[in-house]
Amino acid sequence: MNDVLTGASHHVPRMARTILVVEDETTLRETLIDALESEGFRVVGAADGRAALAEFRAEAPDLILLDVMLPELSGVEVCRIIRAESPVPIIMLTARDSEVDKVVGLELGADDYVTKPFSFRELTARIRAIFRRDERAVTVAAVAVNAAASAAAAEAAVPPPVEVGRVLVDLAGHRVTRDGKPVALKPRAFELLVFLLRHPGQVFTRDQLLEHVWGYEYGGETRTVDVHVHWLRAEIEPDAAAPAWLHTVRGVGYVFRRPD
Ligand code: CA
Repeated sequence: MNDVLTGASHHVPRMARTILVVEDETTLRETLIDALESEGFRVVGAADGRAALAEFRAEAPDLILLDVMLPELSGVEVCRIIRAESPVPIIMLTARDSEVDKVVGLELGADDYVTKPFSFRELTARIRAIFRRDERAVTVAAVAVNAAASAAAAEAAVPPPVEVGRVLVDLAGHRVTRDGKPVALKPRAFELLVFLLRHPGQVFTRDQLLEHVWGYEYGGETRTVDVHVHWLRAEIEPDAAAPAWLHTVRGVGYVFRRPD
């Protein structure tokens, strides 16, 4: 009779990931909560910025969906406060492109952006892509620990750092430095940089970059690519307004090219 209760001792079930949905529009919030629960996530909701901070601290969610326009504290303020405390992935829900520009301009450290109205399939694809990335990071860390055990073998496999002007990209160490000082790049921006470095001179469309770097199963929002290119340029380009390395190919996408 108690199989359901005792089952846990036979195999350890994977803990459901917790998602915090911060949205003041009741219908949208409840729809999102129901839909994400039916995808197998544990979901908690908050209807304003203050409640969002309280839930974040009480529930320690694995990911946060954060509306920008909120009563009490705005999503922008909430994002800033949470980012100062935690690297938890944050997807901002924005009402229009102009809001994305504002949010990007503030460099809040959100991981992704979705513009309303969005499809639920696209949203879950993005959520799963972020969780897969986290799992990969954990796997890479585990491999690094193993490699350290056989330091000689690891040493031989370490790729040399790549120079991009005054910027040095340490592929093995997942580090970027500029004039010897560490540059803080978000994980996805680093992956985008590494992907482009590995394919110099090759032009990629935004969709191709989404597929290769983000791993979206569906046509994601190409705006995300622009946002990350914007961040990369700010860090690696001597003059972000006149890029020397990471070029826009009008009407096509982006290409990484050495200035010579
Ligand atoms: Ca709102």
